[in-house]
Parts: sequence; C-alpha cells; structure tokens
Amino acid sequence: MQEKISRRYLVKCGLVAGAMAPAFGLLASRAGAAGLPPLDPADPTAKALGFVTDSTKVDASSNPTHTAAQKCGTCAQFQGKPGEARGGCNIFAGHSVPQGGWCKAYAPKPT
Ligand code: SF4
Repeated sequence: MQEKISRRYLVKCGLVAGAMAPAFGLLASRAGAAGLPPLDPADPTAKALGFVTDSTKVDASSNPTHTAAQKCGTCAQFQGKPGEARGGCNIFAGHSVPQGGWCKAYAPKPT
C-alpha cells in the first residue's frame, strides 16, 4: 500500500512539474529579454555579421541585398514585441538589439 501511494505521489508531482515547465520557461525568457545588455557593435561576432544599431547606415556596397525594410524588428530572430524599442535576438543570446538594427543573419518573419 505504501509503495502504491508513493508511486501515485511521484506521478502526480511529475505531471504538475511537466505542466509548469513551459510557463516557467516563458516567464524566464520574458524577464530576461527586458534586462539584457545592448549588443556592442564591436563584439567580434557582431562585427563578423556586420551588425549595426541603425539599419539606414548599412554599407550598401558590402551588403547589396539589404533593403530599407530589413530591420531587427521585422527579423524572425527578434524576440521583442512590436512597439518595444529593444528585444533579445536568437543569434546574439544574452544581448538585446534595437528594433532598427540589422545584421547579415537577417531573415524575414514568416507571415
Ligand atoms: S539576426 Fe535579426 S534580430 Fe538579430 S541582429 Fe540580426 S537582423 Fe537583428
């Protein structure tokens, strides 16, 4: 009887923990994105990907496929919400990028 109760208890705990994990993950990512330090354009990875904080300043000669519509705010990697000045980026984990920034890893958000 004792073993049956223990097993049931463990199963219940496992189900509750499993159900809560996505909620905790979502909260952690939202809380983290708000306080992330800005990405420094001098960061070696940022430099390698041609990151700029203002997409209107992209060097057209070395980035001929760049268009005015390409900004962090319209990029699939951007984690900020519409209207937020900054947000996290999947490419530059641990840093925030501005809505108006850009880098060579730009990919349009799916519509
Ligand atoms: S991957 Fe997208 S969101 Fe991240 S810095 Fe480059 S353009 Fe901006």
